[in-house]
Amino acid sequence: MRSLLILGATGSIGTTCLNEIRRSNPGIEIKAISCFSNEEKAKEISSEFGDIPYICLSGKTKEEISSFIHSIDADIALNAIAGSDGLFATLECLKSGKDVALANKESVVMGGAFLFDMAKSLGRRIIPVDSEHSAIYHLLEGHEASSLVITASGGPFIDRKDTKDVKLEDALKHPTWKMGRKITIDSATLANKGLEVIEAHYLFGFEKENIEVTVHRQSVIHSMIRTKEGGVYAQMSPPDMTLPIMAAISDKHLELLNVVRPLSFDNLTLTFEKPDFEKFKMLKLAFDVLEKKGSYPIAYNAANEVAVEAFINGEISFDDISRVTDYVLSFDYSIPSINFEMVCDNDTHARMLAKEAICKL
Ligand code: NDP
Ligand code: MG
Repeated sequence: MRSLLILGATGSIGTTCLNEIRRSNPGIEIKAISCFSNEEKAKEISSEFGDIPYICLSGKTKEEISSFIHSIDADIALNAIAGSDGLFATLECLKSGKDVALANKESVVMGGAFLFDMAKSLGRRIIPVDSEHSAIYHLLEGHEASSLVITASGGPFIDRKDTKDVKLEDALKHPTWKMGRKITIDSATLANKGLEVIEAHYLFGFEKENIEVTVHRQSVIHSMIRTKEGGVYAQMSPPDMTLPIMAAISDKHLELLNVVRPLSFDNLTLTFEKPDFEKFKMLKLAFDVLEKKGSYPIAYNAANEVAVEAFINGEISFDDISRVTDYVLSFDYSIPSINFEMVCDNDTHARMLAKEAICKL
């Protein structure tokens, strides 16, 4: 029996995980869960799984969050919290002796400069849940890669000439994945891919020159690696987050059977296109950030979060998201953030600049 803490149990990733545990009963004991605003749903989950403890993280202090996480005795934590608050939770999970199945990509983008050293010194593992990184993680177990090829669905605007006058409801219509609101908007700007490029750098140690992005509309190949001999290895499965989530929380401790339906090759067409860096400026900015490193990834993430929220609230246009991010990145973030406090300082500073940019628009 493997024991699990689910942070963000009420969201898209949390729900997918719970559904699979209900369906296949793979030998996982859920020890506790967290929600943010949806206490009703958390209560239902708690009673369904034997009155397990739950915490609503909204309004909780760092001490309260930390003491909850430390009080739960679990082998592994699935961190499916949306946004930058996920980093603190990741650090507390590691410190409390849990491995982390990490969906919260913000943890890696913001804490990349120290997170992996910290996990190593504590003897803990961080296993990626993001489908692209899960694919690469498993491919790297069998092969030595010279570069990474990250696939992108291209989002809902891949065929539009430009993204002027894009409406919120259009941006929320993702062609292949059903996800939370923030990541769905990020998939429309390709900021999600930008965050994933940065995430791949910190997770696997590849530099900008050795990370490619290819638009693959079908979302069947989740990513690829190139070997120095010239071969390419791909990981394929139907577009369904259940497999990367279960592979991460299982981490080879469980036998997973038929987690997703078999991929059918009848009439399967796979296409690949070069991304348009002019139209999708958030992707270009992410590669610029990777060149500069320092605390630029933190600034990129913070500016994007503030701008996406403003877009969702109807305060700025879709194209303003990259304008705001570009403005914030024009400031100096060259010093890397090597601890949580430094991350917070840079994050706060970048958010302030993003709000300033929004006022100036
Ligand atoms: P959702 O918005 O669907 O769910 C977010 C979860 O986090 C909910 O349980 C929510 O609680 C909780 N939450 C929201 N804000 C906070 C906060 N400030 N502090 C603590 N908890 C909070 O997001 P997703 O499930 O789509 O995404 C979660 C993470 O996984 C993100 O980092 C995303 O980038 C990543 N990811 C998601 C994928 C997907 O397919 N959805 C794919 C790959 C990565 P409540 O519902 O109670 O408000
Ligand atoms: Mg992804």
